[in-house]
Amino acid sequence: MTTMAHYIKRTSPYGGEFRGECVLCGTQDLPMEAALEDCTNPQGLTMSEIFVDILNGKEPDKMTEEEIDTFSSDGLICPYCGYCREDDLQEIDGVYDGCGGEHTCGDCGKDFKFDTSITHYWTSYKIDVE
Ligand SMILES: [Zn+2]
Ligand SMILES: [Zn+2]
Repeated sequence: MTTMAHYIKRTSPYGGEFRGECVLCGTQDLPMEAALEDCTNPQGLTMSEIFVDILNGKEPDKMTEEEIDTFSSDGLICPYCGYCREDDLQEIDGVYDGCGGEHTCGDCGKDFKFDTSITHYWTSYKIDVE
């Protein structure tokens, strides 16, 4: 087993004295100098395992599935698989009348709800042309 120093993660608030916890052995309230001392590393963790753990701890959301952006003006996007139905949209109730509805994905077969947004644009012209 390789000898490693304490790998200290800061636990004290920034701006004050450094106090941290060793992610290897779990010792708490360590000063910065302890980073130079040998750690017992009871679990025998390697450097790469530590980094993965630290990253996961920082961003736990990264582990969850990414949300599919279903906002589209091209067609109806399935929130489960991302399939975009662009053809024959008029056959789906609620797609064009603005009230939304439910639809079964043509790709993964799951039912999902959708909302329809209708946007109007106007342009005006002068009547008294010179
Ligand atoms: Zn340690
Ligand atoms: Zn789908």
